Amino acid sequence: MIELKNVSRTFGKNTNTEVRAVKNASFTVADGEIFGVIGYSGAGKSTLVRCINLLERPDAGEVWVSGRNLMNLDQRDLRHARKKIGIIFQLFNLFSSRTVAENIGYSLKYTGMSKEDIEKRVDELLDLVGIMDKKNVYPSQLSGGQKQRVGIARALASKPEVLLCDEATSALDPQTTQSILALLRDLNRQLGLTIVIITHEMNVVKSICTSAVVMDSGEIVERGSVFELFSNP
Ligand code: ADP
Ligand code: ADP
Repeated sequence: MIELKNVSRTFGKNTNTEVRAVKNASFTVADGEIFGVIGYSGAGKSTLVRCINLLERPDAGEVWVSGRNLMNLDQRDLRHARKKIGIIFQLFNLFSSRTVAENIGYSLKYTGMSKEDIEKRVDELLDLVGIMDKKNVYPSQLSGGQKQRVGIARALASKPEVLLCDEATSALDPQTTQSILALLRDLNRQLGLTIVIITHEMNVVKSICTSAVVMDSGEIVERGSVFELFSNP
């Protein structure tokens, strides 16, 4: 379970460009849920979700993941806890000078895993996201949807329990968006993966999420099941 309690994050504190990106936000994501964070650009969605793995460190509040408050962990324990949380991005963030296999296996090099075990794991991941035939090509040779599949495989390399998706389909056309959402749904079912999806597109939330929060100006202004949020009274 993920639970954020009274999380705040301000950029440029005590300067004339101070931005209160997240204000006192609290929410809970149950295990195995596909959870949406929706709102306009600049609402604070990305900052809020980055607080889940402390990619962005809150100024205040608690961040509970799998029973531990990450805010209280030292560097070593935090590094360990972060392996349980994968993240994918709008623009994929792949290394252009590395092959698909190298992009996916990169983080495993630092875990003491043998070269053979890394190769085996990378093959499993390629199979899981359906791009085995792209193993040895470079990112520039891939479509957007294929690049995001590499991003997903890389994020899953360390077998995380949670996948954070930061506008992961925003650079994709509608058809490719649907295929990536279908893959996320499969991974959720197959692996029991908990998924948190940031998006500015209602349709993404409607088609895949079970519940969601709506953000505006750094605050959570609505929350509930997707059925409750989108049913017209
Ligand atoms: P969203 O994901 O909803 O588009 P963000 O979390 O990216 O929103 O941004 C929320 C606010 O915080 C925006 O006003 C943005 O400009 C500001 N912000 C985000 N990151 C930084 C940063 N590193 N430094 C300063 N301001 C930032
Ligand atoms: P180096 O061996 O100098 O670290 P390489 O360019 O040979 O650099 O490869 C980078 C890393 O990517 C390798 O060490 C290996 O861990 C990983 N890697 C390369 N090819 C594969 C592959 N086919 N499957 C899985 N991991 C791979």
